[in-house]
Amino acid sequence: AGRLEGKVAFISGGASGLGEAQAKLYAAEGASVTIGDIQQDKGAQVVAAIEAAGGTAQFVELDVSSPESWANAVAANTSAYGKLTTLVNNAGIFHPGGIVDETLEGWQKMIAINQTGVFLGMKTASAALLASGNASIVNISSLFGLIGSPGAISYHASKAAVRVMGKAGALEFAKRGIRVNTIFPGQIKTPILADITPEQDAAIKAAIPMGDTGDPIDIAYASLYLASDEAKYVSGAEIWVDGGWYA
Ligand code: NAD
Repeated sequence: AGRLEGKVAFISGGASGLGEAQAKLYAAEGASVTIGDIQQDKGAQVVAAIEAAGGTAQFVELDVSSPESWANAVAANTSAYGKLTTLVNNAGIFHPGGIVDETLEGWQKMIAINQTGVFLGMKTASAALLASGNASIVNISSLFGLIGSPGAISYHASKAAVRVMGKAGALEFAKRGIRVNTIFPGQIKTPILADITPEQDAAIKAAIPMGDTGDPIDIAYASLYLASDEAKYVSGAEIWVDGGWYA
């Protein structure tokens, strides 16, 4: 049997990158998966790939910054699968911008998606997760939620908030059947890095002790563990998957 047999997982941002890798691995390990994303076409492709491999998945439209959108998406998961055991708050955006250059508009967009999106996800899904009695939440923060760097002020702020929301959530739900854990990816090869210059890419690789960026599956394996019953005593944990960057 798969490591997630009997689980029902909602994965935000599951149409691309780390979310896609998690959706495919979760489904391969026996979970029924709902992918919530703004990218309908790419989401449908991921669902088709999961089904072709014998797994169970559906796509629902989701804008994580909207409470109405979250309510509809969680309801669509329940009507398809009857329960929710696992929430992966993975959707996120990145854009550069230091304290001098970042606009208020850019700041607010980053906070709305990366920070408010995680709060709304946990809030909206909490009733169904509590009802399942054996649930977990996996939040995707970033190494940049732990350390600073010049030129990405709003991203750092949003991801640090995700870190502390995970700790607060772990304590709020500790006696109520929901574990809450956080993954901190270093630099992983996904479309989110599309705008990085070759020089920036080389500088990042030089900064990583293991000498290279990671693959989406590296994040998916950490997420799989946290979502599985193997992690039944693990809550409030922080797992860095970063080639030794934070060591
Ligand atoms: P990605 O761009 O490949 O995937 C992000 C997904 O989120 C996309 O499918 C996108 O459509 C979706 N999304 C964006 N805005 C949304 C919204 N408002 N509502 C719903 N979905 C939305 O990027 P990725 O690298 O896979 O990123 C996944 C997560 O991992 C993000 O939270 C990102 O900050 C985090 N992360 C990535 C890296 C990395 O190096 N790739 C490093 C640290 C953290």
